[in-house]
Amino acid sequence: MATAMRTDLCGTLRAEHEGTTVTVCGWVDRRREHGEHLAFIDLRDYTGIVQAVVDGNHDMRVEYVARITGTVAARPADTANPDLPTGEIELRDCEVEILSIAEPPPFPMDERTGVDETIRLRHRYVDMRKARMQRNLRTRAKVNSAVRGAMEEQGFVEIETPMLIASTPEGARDFVVPSRQKPGNFYALPQSPQIFKQLCMVGGIDRYYQIARCMRDEDLRADRQFEFMQLDAEASFVTQEDVFEFISHAVREATEAVTGERPGEIPHMTWNDAMERFGSDKPDTRFGMELVNLTDLFAETEFNAFKAERIMGIRLEGGAELSRNKLDDLTDMVKRWGGKGLVWMKVEDDKSLNSPVAKFCSESELTGIVERLEAEPGDICFLVADRLRRTQHLLGLLRVELGRPPVTEGGFNFLWVVDFPLFEEINEDGKPIPLHHPFTMPHPDDVDLLNTAEGEELLEVRSQSYDLVLNGWELGSGSVRIHRSDIQSRIFEMLGIGAEEAQLKFGFLLDAFKYGAPPHAGFAFGLDRLTALLAGEENIREVIAFPKTQSGGDPLTQAPTPVADAHLEELGLRVLPPAE
Ligand code: ASP
Repeated sequence: MATAMRTDLCGTLRAEHEGTTVTVCGWVDRRREHGEHLAFIDLRDYTGIVQAVVDGNHDMRVEYVARITGTVAARPADTANPDLPTGEIELRDCEVEILSIAEPPPFPMDERTGVDETIRLRHRYVDMRKARMQRNLRTRAKVNSAVRGAMEEQGFVEIETPMLIASTPEGARDFVVPSRQKPGNFYALPQSPQIFKQLCMVGGIDRYYQIARCMRDEDLRADRQFEFMQLDAEASFVTQEDVFEFISHAVREATEAVTGERPGEIPHMTWNDAMERFGSDKPDTRFGMELVNLTDLFAETEFNAFKAERIMGIRLEGGAELSRNKLDDLTDMVKRWGGKGLVWMKVEDDKSLNSPVAKFCSESELTGIVERLEAEPGDICFLVADRLRRTQHLLGLLRVELGRPPVTEGGFNFLWVVDFPLFEEINEDGKPIPLHHPFTMPHPDDVDLLNTAEGEELLEVRSQSYDLVLNGWELGSGSVRIHRSDIQSRIFEMLGIGAEEAQLKFGFLLDAFKYGAPPHAGFAFGLDRLTALLAGEENIREVIAFPKTQSGGDPLTQAPTPVADAHLEELGLRVLPPAE
């Protein structure tokens, strides 16, 4: 990394360099006076910090940019700093050149100081100088590079798809861009390259990939930004097993590139098992606390609250010490999630159950709970009785609330969740809503069911779609696509999308399929999410150079901003006063 301006990087100097003359460049991290005429300067670049002993008369302040030439010398033994990689040495007999002066930084540069996020983002260029952002952005680059390499190695061809397009069917709200040449008309920004990658398959590309920017106008969360990056891929003449293989290879390569350790084979779990055992379609398998079905224990119950389609429980080891307040909080939480309530039972020394509802349960019901949940004295059991899906969902959330390890612990548990249902729910008009997107191929074993099922029964039809999950985060989704127009028409019909509407929305894809579509399947996973987890961050904003805040603004550029009236005029747009 030597350049015409420097010979070495600050953080790389060691005792072995003793006696050599070096030139380093960077920012002043700290200044301490040393006697009357000398000062210690810590100079920082992206590799770390080196201490230089300089003439104290220099006006060198924090965050000034400087170039220092000096001789590497061992620090006196009592001043060596074992916590710093360069702590055994310092630069002496220094010549100093100030390259830029700087105002005091907008926040302390000390890593341990918590700074309001808006202020960090407003001055992201300063925030970025800190070790955490330096590490995260470099981790991100490693992930991108490993993923790119893995796809190339497997014969995938990088193809760029357009940003100004017609709407895509991912089911979120589109960001739109007004057309100047056709006032009143709009482009949509891609929610994904979905349709284009399928067109590439019709075009004989065989294996496509792209590190693609996707835009979805959804509420922002810790794992969601308006714009995000995906590894997007599609391949022809493949089954879902092939997709698992090439995507697994890419994420394992990325993980190894960052952590130095290669994850093992990625296990598979059906969507049904995931819901049944973990109450979630993105189970965090770093910890147990699996859901246990207790429904049959209560077949004859006298207790009204337990007369439900499904009763399930989870056990928290050592949870009997939870306070009444904490238990009330958990109950409120479950109600906020849509539940009717939460039953808790503390396991006493004699394995009897201490619970406000114990008196409504029979002896065999109570011993049954202890046995099924393998409860031990000092544990607590939580029970929910509700409709099947809601019981699973509520206990799934509670399990995560009570058991999830911190993001930096428990390793990297990748998981393929397979055999997702084709439909998510039935809408008010009795039409099913696709869980993935309307081009997803039904499961081969469920084609008959698809043709005969009615109403709620349709929710049992499985699809050839699958998700990749890591530590409880959905990394991405994909599916085998419908490549036959007869099946596609049937699905559109079921979804209540008429021939005319289908033609209007996806006509160009349906037309393309008339010209010879190969069977194809694909996948996309979020690079922001993968990087965040590999970097040990809870929030994807920490691995994005210039993210938006939770409310969707950019404190640095102030976006979104109004546009000039003349510009609106040109676009044929008029802005309404804000709605009441
Ligand atoms: N286009 C899908 C998505 O962005 C992924 C896929 O089906 O390939 O979620």
